[in-house]
Amino acid sequence: MNTTPLELNKIYDLAYNALKKHGCDDFNAESVATTVTHAERDGSVSHGLFRIPGYIASLESKKVNGVSRPSSTYLTQNAIRVEGDYGFAPVAIKVGLPDLIKTTSSHGVGILTITNTHHFAALWHETEALAEKNLIGIACTAYKPSVAPAGAKKPLFGTNPISFAWPRKNNTPVVYDMATSTMAMGEVQVAARDGHKVPFGTGLNKEGNKTDDPSQIANGGVLLTFGDYKGSAIAMMIELLSAGLVGDLFSFEAKEEDNNDGGPARGGEFIMALSPELIAGKDWNEHAEKFFTQMLSLDGVRLPGQRRHNNRNDKGPREINTNLLEKIKSLI
Ligand code: NDP
Repeated sequence: MNTTPLELNKIYDLAYNALKKHGCDDFNAESVATTVTHAERDGSVSHGLFRIPGYIASLESKKVNGVSRPSSTYLTQNAIRVEGDYGFAPVAIKVGLPDLIKTTSSHGVGILTITNTHHFAALWHETEALAEKNLIGIACTAYKPSVAPAGAKKPLFGTNPISFAWPRKNNTPVVYDMATSTMAMGEVQVAARDGHKVPFGTGLNKEGNKTDDPSQIANGGVLLTFGDYKGSAIAMMIELLSAGLVGDLFSFEAKEEDNNDGGPARGGEFIMALSPELIAGKDWNEHAEKFFTQMLSLDGVRLPGQRRHNNRNDKGPREINTNLLEKIKSLI
């Protein structure tokens, strides 16, 4: 794979200009370009510039509103709804997080339900933003079906990611962010593009047999959930929280509605915040630090989120797939 070094500010400019050229206004382009740049900065390559052609396709097909103005309303004292105005999810999240932080910091618990948005990004952006305010963050979203429930050979679930962030005073938060499939479809697509195999059993080919060929999974095959029926139960929970509770589309409904332009389908997101200060009490941080010390005393353990935070310390250019770079440049 050929790569080209690109500074972070150039990555931002590239994303921003591509989005502006295809119908985003400043507010929408800034929100998405920031998310894309942070993904590249942290080494979340499958959710960085790789997503720009899809973002653009969905602007061009008019599926996504590039001039969205999401609005925030309180459903109850603790529950906020952001109506996403059919824009990209980072815009709605930017609008909703300040109210979620405010309500959770006052009442200990808050939820944010996001509707009518198009999510094409990693979820750690939103949970980590909560942890930076000393709150615990949990977020999940459904997507179009590409994952078979345990026992099935046909897709019903999306890759349905879930993220959890735990705040740490004077340290980077502990954050996990994972698809409930064996792999995220973005990673499978990157592996197919780069000619790499994936672990055997990541998914089934279109005949229903287990395979290690990412292109067979991405083209007519199906992913499996992690941990067999246990991951399947979590994927089901995510459908129920981010569609059933939020009041937006289940993965199978998103597929029925989507125009398959290569960009993100419409859907909702469930975000929950908890205040350890208000719920656990004043020594919550010291108590959790003792637990992390125990974890890290075991050989071979690292805390989730650490890889990204280490990447973040590197202020230098990022190596971008040259074909992708040329493709995005040709779209501007
Ligand atoms: P990974 O399997 O790469 O990583 C999952 C989590 O495990 C990360 O938090 C990672 O932390 C952590 N981790 C990995 N290895 C270790 C280890 N040895 N010890 C401790 N922790 C570890 O993620 P996925 O491929 O499942 O998902 C990738 C991304 O795709 C996610 O950001 C997800 O939000 C996104 N996604 C988005 C969708 C959407 O619709 N918007 C759909 C599906 C996925 P670290 O980062 O530090 O490595």
